[in-house]
Amino acid sequence: MASAKKDKNFSPEDIICTAEANCEQSGMRLTSKRKNVLSVLLGSEVPLSAYEISERYSRRFAESITAVSVYRMLDFLISQNLVHRLNSENKYVACSHISSDSGHDVPQFLICDNCQKVKETHISKDIVDALIADVSASGFELRHPQLELHCLCQACASVG
Ligand SMILES: [Zn+2]
Ligand SMILES: [Zn+2]
Repeated sequence: MASAKKDKNFSPEDIICTAEANCEQSGMRLTSKRKNVLSVLLGSEVPLSAYEISERYSRRFAESITAVSVYRMLDFLISQNLVHRLNSENKYVACSHISSDSGHDVPQFLICDNCQKVKETHISKDIVDALIADVSASGFELRHPQLELHCLCQACASVG
């Protein structure tokens, strides 16, 4: 059950290999610290804050890392679309399709308010265009079209 929501046919090691190859292709390097931060996120079913990441990192790799450097690693991982920041939660999740996608559209997140499970989907281009039009009609310019919808997942909805 642990990895049901991540790429079904890819182990975290496979995903890290792909991430490494993707970085190389864009002339970047997935250093071991960056890799470890990504692997902490891949191992979590729920989004994590920078502090939670640094705690798990220290436990798992027996090496302490400050939250400041976690933020630095996250900045890089986010710029490569390997990790996403959930702005409404101030937490981070590993991209759920590192191994299966070449490009990356505007992500949309369905967040279960009960168990914190997150599902990453894509907003269709029509909806993004409609949002942009709507926002600009109000005299604003849309800067971050990422959507975070607070929901109940199927499991939680069926209980409650
Ligand atoms: Zn993604
Ligand atoms: Zn739930």
